[in-house]
Amino acid sequence: VIERLGAPLAEPIFDELAIIGVGLIGSSIARAARRRNAARRIVVADHTVATLERAKALALADVVTDDPARAVSGADCVILCVPIGAYGAVGRAIAPALRPGTIVSDVGSVKSAVISALEAALPGHARLAPAHPVAGTEQSGPDAGFASLFVNRWCILTPPEGADEQAVTKVKAFWEALGSHVEIMGAAHHDLVLAITSHVPHLIAYNIVGTAADLEEVTRSEVIKFSAGGFRDFTRIAASDPTMWRDVFLHNKDAVLEMLGRFSEDLTALQRMIRRGDGDGLFALFTRTRAIRRGIVAEGQETAAPDFGRRAAETDEPVT
Ligand code: NAP
Repeated sequence: VIERLGAPLAEPIFDELAIIGVGLIGSSIARAARRRNAARRIVVADHTVATLERAKALALADVVTDDPARAVSGADCVILCVPIGAYGAVGRAIAPALRPGTIVSDVGSVKSAVISALEAALPGHARLAPAHPVAGTEQSGPDAGFASLFVNRWCILTPPEGADEQAVTKVKAFWEALGSHVEIMGAAHHDLVLAITSHVPHLIAYNIVGTAADLEEVTRSEVIKFSAGGFRDFTRIAASDPTMWRDVFLHNKDAVLEMLGRFSEDLTALQRMIRRGDGDGLFALFTRTRAIRRGIVAEGQETAAPDFGRRAAETDEPVT
């Protein structure tokens, strides 16, 4: 499947879009919005000189600044693309500069905590319409972004109670312009769903790679040499940005602990099956899980190519 953005829109959705944090997600939004003409003008802000220089060199925006307040002062939509732990500080920095009626959205992987942080920091006239594009890679920074990142991926909107409907509709239209399918749900439900589909899998990957790294009986070179046996696929996830993921676990604590509890119970049941030689039990579970994978492939959220499409990618053949 070659993921493509559509043709530029005749009329932009936003007049001036401000993106705070121009890493993987922020720079991908800037690229996609530019390609789709989804915003007439794009302003980006970040806090390190090196990132700002890269944003300029990559021509990601009309204006690149280190001042978040300046970045939002003329915007009709602001999207926060910083790690979740930075929301409070960024919210307080932009609050005095927001024009009445400006839409404030974000891309954070956790929603209840970010809504609380933003509601506490922002003025009442800001129109809050939080979002979470369920798309990403294990890379970070402005060079890692690409315009088609969100094509055929889901973006979940979690409008808080009393959210401005027009703001939510505009943010929905924006994500659809970037190629996403949009679903709307409550923040608490989002956090529970993502705990099992994203957060716990990342924790498991971090854990298994950490365990392998600490093993003394198996040498480091053997772990790397024989990684194609399965370990390698965990290492991709375990290479994800440490700041982002630390913040996810600190801010989605309850849902992650709830799902982790269930995971541990199921793991104990598996342990028992192995100990008791319960081959039928193992076979039944592995058959059920295989069907889930097939469902994901059938919905176009993954390639059915062998080796996750890596072989095709190495030979530059399109993965179908
Ligand atoms: P990233 O590549 O590390 O980008 C984050 C950017 O924010 C960096 O450029 C960082 O600057 C900047 N930043 C950090 N603190 C800041 C502050 N106080 N003021 C201004 N800029 C600041 O991370 P990302 O993957 O794009 O993640 C950004 C957000 O997207 C997170 O909230 C994450 O939960 C969410 N998200 C990520 C994924 C994913 O797969 N990666 C998917 C969906 C949603 P420096 O690096 O220069 O410090």
